[in-house]
Amino acid sequence: MNILLFGKPGAGKGTQAPKLAAALKVPTLATGDVLRGAIRAGTPLGLKAKGYMDRGDLVPDDVILGVIGETLGRPEYANGVILDGVVRTVPQAEGMKRVLSTLKRKLEAVLSFDINNDEIVKRLSGRTVCEACQTPYTGHAAGETCATCGKGKLVRRKDDEPDAIRNRLDVYEKQTAPVLDWYKRDGVNVATIDASGSVDDVSKRALKALGR
Ligand SMILES: [Zn+2]
Repeated sequence: MNILLFGKPGAGKGTQAPKLAAALKVPTLATGDVLRGAIRAGTPLGLKAKGYMDRGDLVPDDVILGVIGETLGRPEYANGVILDGVVRTVPQAEGMKRVLSTLKRKLEAVLSFDINNDEIVKRLSGRTVCEACQTPYTGHAAGETCATCGKGKLVRRKDDEPDAIRNRLDVYEKQTAPVLDWYKRDGVNVATIDASGSVDDVSKRALKALGR
């Protein structure tokens, strides 16, 4: 079972990935993790990726897809995979299809975790982090003293300011809508999952969409 997860920033995709993986008994695969793994292992593609990163450049799609292909070829991925945010653009979707078909596999479903933008702004702007020890908090206001280290002040990340969140959501919308349309045209089952409510409720909806 090969599943691709999509989700607006703040929709809880990262929380759902390990839960779905446990329920479906397949591992997750996220781009950042496999890139770090390839760099640690010193594979030729890993070293190539490291070269780009050391220069402060984006790692090109063909290098990332190469690393993902190598990883998916391992025995632990033989029964399937939860691809966590691996595809963000149409060229990446096309590349991922080539990688999977080389392995004689295909995507069974794309799950898109969706939630109202106002709810996301509320969720994300409620996050703060200690400027001294970096402990993250939810439901604590900026300016409070950190309860963990007792010294630092809580601050809101620039990324979590309401205007920045709305900007990230606009970028997501522009990038993602064409990708979901591409998958629908390609005949892949694209399911939109209501990502509001509790983590368990969202998992249940996602599994139901997969017929589990
Ligand atoms: Zn602290």
